[in-house]
Amino acid sequence: MTRVTVIGGGCIGVSVASHLVERDIDVRLLDKGYAAGETTGKAGGLIFSQLHEPADVRAMAYSLEFFRSLSERDNHFTFHESGFLRLGTEAERPVFEHEVAMQREAGADVRLVEPDEMGMIYPSLSLDGVTVGTYSPSDGYADPHTFTTTLLADAEANGLEYRPGTRVIDVTASESPSVTTEEGTIESDVVVIAAGPWSHRLAALADVDLPAKPYRAQALVTAPVGVDVGTVYDAHEGVYFRTTQDTGLLVGDGTEEVEADPDDYSRRADFDFLATMSETIERRLSAADVGVQNAWAGLCTATPDCFPLVGRPPFESGAEPRPDGLLVAAGLQGHGFMRSPAVGRAIAELICDDRPPVAEWRPTRFDDDPGDFEIEEMLTLEGKYHNLE
Ligand SMILES: Cc1cc2nc3c(=O)[nH]c(=O)nc-3n(C[C@H](O)[C@H](O)[C@H](O)COP(=O)(O)OP(=O)(O)OC[C@H]3O[C@@H](n4cnc5c(N)ncnc54)[C@H](O)[C@@H]3O)c2cc1C
Repeated sequence: MTRVTVIGGGCIGVSVASHLVERDIDVRLLDKGYAAGETTGKAGGLIFSQLHEPADVRAMAYSLEFFRSLSERDNHFTFHESGFLRLGTEAERPVFEHEVAMQREAGADVRLVEPDEMGMIYPSLSLDGVTVGTYSPSDGYADPHTFTTTLLADAEANGLEYRPGTRVIDVTASESPSVTTEEGTIESDVVVIAAGPWSHRLAALADVDLPAKPYRAQALVTAPVGVDVGTVYDAHEGVYFRTTQDTGLLVGDGTEEVEADPDDYSRRADFDFLATMSETIERRLSAADVGVQNAWAGLCTATPDCFPLVGRPPFESGAEPRPDGLLVAAGLQGHGFMRSPAVGRAIAELICDDRPPVAEWRPTRFDDDPGDFEIEEMLTLEGKYHNLE
């Protein structure tokens, strides 16, 4: 039986482990802390197919179906299919039109909407200044922590060996790769590095140079606002928000496009972020004062082209992957939660069926050394389509 060791118990590592045990693979999952204890536990939970690239839109079809079907089972996880509305002005209209055509072509259930229809979809929203939007009724949100722990519990019931509090201190790449923890060495047929913002450091232990950079992203939760506004991205202002369980709002997009040290970064939200977000929310709800109950910063991980690094990595840029058992599932940008089912499936198909992931996700896709690339936030439309501006 193939023995696989997965490093990292965030949504990515747990999804990989879950997809593998479904295929009767012998899997152990190691985490230095506990499942969903890092980036995953800090995510906003938005799930949507209104993305900029066809490969991402197509991958979301599987993820959406996975979230839906897990939600229908008897457990604590709920996928709130609230719909997802993007708000814009005439400045965003050409990009919205272009993206809706592409997303529909790639199979997404999305359409362009005008203010009259937006007012009917979310009557509590102030559409001041908004002249166009895009909407998908099949998108929505879910709690990333509950998703990960639900999947983990199912996987453990199916034979997964989960070892929280187990820090990996060395990784050796070879045909039979191994990982060393403070308790000893574990031999495997395959090792999957799914360590979120620490992935490039773990890969470096095995002499793999991963083009991945951690960066800070912030979110806050407001006091109850008494209305349900579903899931919204104000594309003009660059702010997203969605309803929480007690009718507060989870608000985000305080992305800092600067490389961060995963072992030493500020976990507190910045004052500027709190002020800007509160202002946007108060305007969108026509409310005088919306209190902030909680706020934090976590780390996302950027790649040079915003696509993830999923599969067998090269040991040098532009080189072929070595025929060994080291795999990565990292560089998920700010979209790792919603991509996690599709990433888990891709790794399981690579291990079990020898089927490589889509070309856009392969870590071998960079012909030249990407070098010191710019960190780019994925939600924003700014600078994405120079020919449409
Ligand atoms: C504020 C914020 C909002 C976000 N909102 C969204 C959203 O709305 N939708 C969306 O799709 N995504 C969102 N994201 C992004 C999403 O959270 C990430 O892409 C995703 O959680 C990455 O998951 P992961 O499993 O790769 O990483 P992580 O969750 O960080 O998991 C990695 C795990 O590896 C473990 N680890 C690290 N080093 C070692 C080691 N040496 N040994 C053992 N274990 C180790 C860590 O303890 C950790 O548990 C958001 C992120 C932030 C910060």
